[in-house]
Amino acid sequence: MLVKFTKSQQQILDLLEQLDEEISAQDLHIKLRKKYLKIGLATVYRTVKNLHLQGIIQERINPNGESLYRLIKDNHEHHFNCVNCGISTILKGEYCPINQNLTNWCSTQNFKLYYHTLEFFGLCENCQNKV
Ligand SMILES: [Zn+2]
Ligand SMILES: [Zn+2]
Repeated sequence: MLVKFTKSQQQILDLLEQLDEEISAQDLHIKLRKKYLKIGLATVYRTVKNLHLQGIIQERINPNGESLYRLIKDNHEHHFNCVNCGISTILKGEYCPINQNLTNWCSTQNFKLYYHTLEFFGLCENCQNKV
């Protein structure tokens, strides 16, 4: 399937490719404004929503309730979220319990699978001594 992207989609995809980390729509907007000047926040939100709908980018909601986006890739990450300070840290190593069997099983459920998220919650090193 060859998808033709609009200008704003392409700009956002290029930026996400360069960044290679999660970013909120608002931060995305700030970075885009520095590069291309004319792009409204509403356009960024709309474009991000559309790319998400197409299964090109993924969304993760952090402990502060903020949506973060990144490109969907084979080597993905899982996060540890601190319930006190709201910090998210990427789990080290490439361990993912969602294996191919489970992915195959999902595709028998009449559901077109794009990606998964897996979140761990608790206290970060800093907060363990404070709470
Ligand atoms: Zn913390
Ligand atoms: Zn995973």
